[in-house]
Amino acid sequence: MKKLAFITVDDSDYEDRFWNILVETGLDPEEFEALEYFSYLPFFVLAGASVETHLHIHGDHFHFQGVTLSVPDELEEAFYEVLPQILQQLIDGETEDGEEEEEA
Ligand SMILES: [Zn+2]
Repeated sequence: MKKLAFITVDDSDYEDRFWNILVETGLDPEEFEALEYFSYLPFFVLAGASVETHLHIHGDHFHFQGVTLSVPDELEEAFYEVLPQILQQLIDGETEDGEEEEEA
């Protein structure tokens, strides 16, 4: 598996290639508190990423530590090809809010 990112409070660590794609979108990284780009996790999954959740477990409660995103080595290139397309659909959808397309 190829590690793509570790997202944690105030100290997320993305692969440069992944990070650059996200920055280019202009999306707000801190839409969900200090977990950078965490709001877009479902879209990373659609692009093929797997999520592993890290918790501190203390008997009857736990602390959230972060998530690791990874992809099988052979799918890494496909991830980087598909991700910008999915994010573009998201951005296009947001800018078209409330506007119905009318057919001529
Ligand atoms: Zn803890």
